[in-house]
Amino acid sequence: MRKDVFTGRWVIMADSTAVRPSDFHFDRFFKETTFCPFCETNEASTPPEVFAIRKPGSPANGSGWSVRVVPNVAPRLRIEGELGRRAEGFHDLMNGVGAHEIVAETPRHDRSLHELEIEEIGDVIRAYIARIVDLEGDKRMRYVLIFKNHGEEAGAHTISHSISQLMALSVTPRTVKTKLITARDYFALKERCIYCDVLQQELKQKTRLIAENEDFVAFAPFASRFPFEMAIVPKFHDSAFSRISPTQIEGLARILRDVLQRLDHTLGGPPYNLSLQDRPFLRPRAGYWNTIEDDFHWHVEILPQIARITGFEWASGFFYNPVPPEVAARCLSPVADAEPDRRG
Ligand SMILES: [Zn+2]
Ligand SMILES: [Zn+2]
Repeated sequence: MRKDVFTGRWVIMADSTAVRPSDFHFDRFFKETTFCPFCETNEASTPPEVFAIRKPGSPANGSGWSVRVVPNVAPRLRIEGELGRRAEGFHDLMNGVGAHEIVAETPRHDRSLHELEIEEIGDVIRAYIARIVDLEGDKRMRYVLIFKNHGEEAGAHTISHSISQLMALSVTPRTVKTKLITARDYFALKERCIYCDVLQQELKQKTRLIAENEDFVAFAPFASRFPFEMAIVPKFHDSAFSRISPTQIEGLARILRDVLQRLDHTLGGPPYNLSLQDRPFLRPRAGYWNTIEDDFHWHVEILPQIARITGFEWASGFFYNPVPPEVAARCLSPVADAEPDRRG
């Protein structure tokens, strides 16, 4: 991993000995491979599972599972070794130590996350929790990033099976850190959680509200970067996702399925990225996480990828959003349960 001296951003760099130019011929991309290692009965073609939710009595690495977590065969980070933080001239480097795992969300190839039953989405959430709790025990790790690329344009270009990815990192990602600092500064000033405050305002104003249940609210953020961007925020204050209760898991599964179905229905199955924005592991470091239990509030971000990121966004860090969140919230109307399967 190399640190960019100009911006402070870390880059995970591939091992130079493993690079072949032919791997990057443009026509290699966007070709679906016909064999899928994440389908039920193909368990032997993945590395041994690190976690699975299975039918009682079904053997590990065989069929009979509802969610299955395996190490990525081409991991961007490796679990073995020391961090080896060091300098090369004024550049900072460290070893790419971490975990990169694939969460197969369903044994079926023809089902997307929003087409699963509530209980099945609940199993996906339970798998995330189990992996976070396990990886927290590894003292080298500071953060577990959970994300999903749905659709080719969102980065899922070789496997169309419904999966999410998990990366355990030895540094807290910059994007998360920026949010943590903002939340901490707001708390220092007002002694209130910025997310709880925004939630109250969204519930009162209602113009950007998309969905709500007992424990969760989904809304289009005030300064959405992407058209139809959505945030799912728990109504209860908690900095750590892994403390979610069984009832809250069900509530999260319900609202997640609801908003993903709306997105699918309104925009005809667009690609999207989903990520869990959780707090880092609280490794003691003087003066670092003093108020995090009170100031940070975990949440989920859903970013539909229907507008391309252009030179303007890359160069400026600004975004141009052609769909204001008030319009997005109005368009994302509920999908009736009786809705026939559009794929026939
Ligand atoms: Zn498959
Ligand atoms: Zn809060």
